[in-house]
Amino acid sequence: MLPSLFAQCRPARWFVTVLLATGVVSAGRCDTAAPATLYTGAWVFTLADGVAGPREPGHLLVSADGFVLAAGPGFEPPAATAGLADARRVDLTGRIILPGLVSGHSHLWQSAFRGIAADGELYPWLNALHRTYGKFFVEGDFAAFTRHGALDQLRHGVTTTYNHSQSIGGSYEIYVEQLAASEALPQRFVFAWVNDRTVDDATWEARLQPLLARAVPAPERSLLAFAVNALGVHSDGELLRREFALAARHGLGAQIHYLEASDTVVAERAKWPMVRDAGGVGPGRSYAHFIHPDTAMVKEAAEAGAAMIWNPLSNGRLGSGLSDIEGYLAAGLKVGMGVDGAASADIADPFENVRLGLYALRMRRQNSKGLQPIDMLRLHTLATARVLGVERWVGSLEPGKFADFLVVNPASPATGPIWDPAATLVFACSSANIETVHVGGREVARGGRVLGVDEVAVEAEVAARVAALRVRTGK
Ligand SMILES: [Zn+2]
Repeated sequence: MLPSLFAQCRPARWFVTVLLATGVVSAGRCDTAAPATLYTGAWVFTLADGVAGPREPGHLLVSADGFVLAAGPGFEPPAATAGLADARRVDLTGRIILPGLVSGHSHLWQSAFRGIAADGELYPWLNALHRTYGKFFVEGDFAAFTRHGALDQLRHGVTTTYNHSQSIGGSYEIYVEQLAASEALPQRFVFAWVNDRTVDDATWEARLQPLLARAVPAPERSLLAFAVNALGVHSDGELLRREFALAARHGLGAQIHYLEASDTVVAERAKWPMVRDAGGVGPGRSYAHFIHPDTAMVKEAAEAGAAMIWNPLSNGRLGSGLSDIEGYLAAGLKVGMGVDGAASADIADPFENVRLGLYALRMRRQNSKGLQPIDMLRLHTLATARVLGVERWVGSLEPGKFADFLVVNPASPATGPIWDPAATLVFACSSANIETVHVGGREVARGGRVLGVDEVAVEAEVAARVAALRVRTGK
C-alpha cells in the first residue's frame, strides 16, 4: 500500500549515509542528490530541552529527504554545516517557525459529530454519540470521518496525532478502516489499537502482528507507531490485564480514559488498585484527562514514570473539570496535551487548546505566575511526544529529527509588533495565522488548505454519509 499521498523521493545522499552509519534509518531510499532548504529570517522555536525561545531571527536547515540539519539563532548555521553550501534559500522574515504540534489524545472519526449533545457531560454525550450512532456505521463511514478529522487537525497545525481509535458497535472490518485511512494521509499518526474483548489473545495477536510492521519511522511515512487503547478500565481487571500485557509483549505504549467526568470520581478512584494490578502504572502508560486523582495517586503515577494527557478544550466543553497541571508537574508527573475528538472539542485547534488551558489555570489561581506561554508550547510538542514515546522523531526541531514544522505569520491576520514571540504565538495568534505546514520537509498545507487533497469531495462525502446514517438511525 502506498504509505502516503505525498510520498516523494528527494534524499540527500550524504545525510542518509550518516544516518545509516548511526543506525538511525534503514536502507532503501533512492539516492538522487538534491539540495537542502534553508529557511532564514524567521523567529525559530526549536523547543529543544534547555533551549530558550528566540530573541533574534534564526534559521532552519532541512535536508532534501526531510530531516532537520540545523536550527537556531542567526540567519544561517555555521559555514561548515553539511548541506548549507548549496542550499536553496527561503526568506521568511517576520514569520515564526515552530515544531508541528502533537496531539496526545484524539478520536479522529468524531470530526463528523461536532456540536452534538451540547448540554451533555461525558456520559449523556457518550449516549448521544457512540451509543446512538455506533451500531449503524457501515463500510466507509469510519474511513471518511477519520480522513475529515485528520485533515482538520493538519490545517490547525497538528502534525502528529495519537489516534485513540474506537470500536463503537460495528464489525472488526469496519473498525479497522480507521487505520487504513490514517496511512493515506500526509501527517503522522500513533495508532492506538482497540482489542475485541470477545476474542482470545491468539486472535488479538493474529490481527495486530501483521500490522505492526506497517509503522516505520521515516520522513515520508504517516504511521509512526502503534499503541494500545485499553478498554478494561471501564469494565473488568482481567481485560485490562490482557491489554497491558499485549502492550508489554510488543513494547507499545498504552493509554486509558481515566478520571474524566466529575460525577464518577469516587468510583473511578476506587479503580486505581485495579489499574495498578493490571500493569497500568509505569513507563509507557498514560491517562487521558486524569482530572480528579487524589494526591497519593499523582505521587505514585509520577514515581512510576506514568503520564497524563491534558485536553482543556474537551474538558471545558463537557464540563469535566480542570486538572491540577502545575501540581502534577511539581510532583514530577509527565504531562502531554491533546485536542481530543472533535465531537467534544469541537475544533481540533492546539492554539485554542494552549490559550484556554493556560487562561483556565490562571483564572483558578487568580494570578499569572506558574506556567508561561513557552511552557505551553513545550507541553503540546516535545512533552507530548515523550508521553507517546516518539520524541526521537518529532516534537522539536533538532538535527536528525523529522522536519515537521509550521510557518506562522503574525502579520496575517495582523497581531501587531512582536514584543515576546512566545506570547505572540500563544496569546495573540490563532491557527488562522498558519501560513504553511510541513511534514518531513514537504509543504502539505498552505493558507488553511491541505495540498493535494480534494477537500470539497471529503466534505461532501462526510455530509452524505452523515445524512444516510441519520436515516438508518431514525434520528
Ligand atoms: Zn477521549
